[in-house]
Amino acid sequence: MMRKKIVAGNWKMNKTPKETAAFLSGAKDKMVSDAVDVVFCVPFVDLQVAVDALAGTGIGVGAENMHFEDAGAFTGEVSAPMLKEMGVEYVVLGHSERREYFGETDEMINKKVKKALASDLKPILCCGETLEQREAGITIEWVRMQIKCGLLGLTAEEVQKVVLAYEPIWAIGTGKTATSEQAQEVCKAVREVVAEVYGDATADVVRVQYGGSVSGANAAELFAMADIDGGLVGGASLKEDFADIIHYNK
Ligand code: PEP
Repeated sequence: MMRKKIVAGNWKMNKTPKETAAFLSGAKDKMVSDAVDVVFCVPFVDLQVAVDALAGTGIGVGAENMHFEDAGAFTGEVSAPMLKEMGVEYVVLGHSERREYFGETDEMINKKVKKALASDLKPILCCGETLEQREAGITIEWVRMQIKCGLLGLTAEEVQKVVLAYEPIWAIGTGKTATSEQAQEVCKAVREVVAEVYGDATADVVRVQYGGSVSGANAAELFAMADIDGGLVGGASLKEDFADIIHYNK
C-alpha cells in the first residue's frame, strides 16, 4: 500500500497576519509538491490570509485547534463551521501543548475529532509520551490508549480520513529527535492499534506522521521508515527551510 506522505507545519503562536502574508507570498512556490500533501497549520487570526495566499497552489491550510460545539457560550473559542467557511481543510487536535497547558483530555479531543469529521475537516490527531513515560517503559501502552480514546466511536471509514501524528513530547522543540528506529517503533504500534480496532484495510490507509524536531537534515531518514508517512513540523515550518523537508527525497 503506497500512502501519500503528508508534511504539515504547525506554527504554534507565531507570525502575525502581515508576517503570514509576507512569508507565504515569498516562499509558497518552493513549498508546492505533487509527491507530498503539504499543509500549513497556523493561528486562527492568520487562517484567512493563509487560505488566500495559498489558493491554487494545492497547499492546504489547517487550524491548530477548535471547539467541539458548532456555536454557543464558549468565550474565546472557534468552531468547525467557522473554519470551514474560511476554506480551512485540516485541524490539529490534541497537540501535547493543548493537553499540557490548556487541560485538554482524551474525552474532549475525541469530541473534537468527531466534530471535525462531521464538518468535513481533516483532523491531525496527536499522541506522544513524556520522557518520564519513555523511561518507565510505558510509551507503547500510553500511545495506544491515546489513539483508542481519540478515535473512540468512529467508523473505519472515518478513521481513514484522520491523520495520526506521533510526537514524543521530549522531542518537541528541543532539537532532540527520536531516532528513526524509535519513531518507527511507535508509528508501527499506532498502526497496529488501528488494525486491531478498525481492521487491516483501515490501518493500511491511515497516515501516521512523526513529529519532534524534524528538519531538512533528518526528514529523509525518518520518512523512509515503513510506518512513517510524513511529519508534523513546528519550528522548521516557520522558515523557508521547510521546503527541504517537503522535498526530502530530492
Ligand atoms: C510540533 O509543534 O508539533 C513540533 C513537532 O515542533 P518541533 O518540530 O519544533 O519540534
